[in-house]
Amino acid sequence: MSINVAIDGPAGAGKSTIAKKLAKDLDYIYVDTGAMYRALAYFLIKKGMENSSEEQVSEIISQAQVSIQYENNQQQVYLNGENVTAYLRTEEVGNMASKTSAYKAVRAHLLALQQELAQSNNVIMDGRDIGTCVLPHADYKIYLTASVETRAKRRFDELVEKGETPDYDKIAKDIEERDYRDMHREIAPLKKAEDAHLVDSSNLSIEEVVQAIKDIMK
Ligand code: C5P
Repeated sequence: MSINVAIDGPAGAGKSTIAKKLAKDLDYIYVDTGAMYRALAYFLIKKGMENSSEEQVSEIISQAQVSIQYENNQQQVYLNGENVTAYLRTEEVGNMASKTSAYKAVRAHLLALQQELAQSNNVIMDGRDIGTCVLPHADYKIYLTASVETRAKRRFDELVEKGETPDYDKIAKDIEERDYRDMHREIAPLKKAEDAHLVDSSNLSIEEVVQAIKDIMK
């Protein structure tokens, strides 16, 4: 039987950094489900469908085949056979993913892929609905969060490091809007599973968060 660890939480709480580190330390596979939603959003942007209706989106995504491969232990996302990993981490794609991930057909399109990965591998899977919907029987469930200010500051610093000149207020507003959309959508909203352990990373280092989760898994 594979061991499944679900890590859910809002954008910018540090899920991917923590999940990657944990996966490396424990020799598990890291499954970034946000990247799958981003791949579908990227597909829709490429098709010029930013302002399309749910019905139109639901119809066209049957043409989008998303799959995952691991190269040097890094998750690579393929869209119709093309590795699109490098195009997924922009604000434009993230905002589109947050909008379209509310659609039933979009979620259904990715669910089986996520569940299959968890069935055949020891996984650390991060997302919004992993503990509540995708892997309700996960061995360990973590709800990782941090204040809006902390999350916006982390994103701001990340962009500065990349040589960009970001607007802190805009980042904070985008985060708040994304939280709202993720938490208030009808299907699979972001919420802490009743049996999830709450970890607030606002005042913790990466190492401290990783250790807190390892302690939970003891
Ligand atoms: O985590 P990340 O920012 O890459 O996710 C992009 C968007 O995909 C999120 O804002 C969220 O709306 C959506 N998502 C989701 N369910 C997941 C993972 C991501 O709805 N399991």
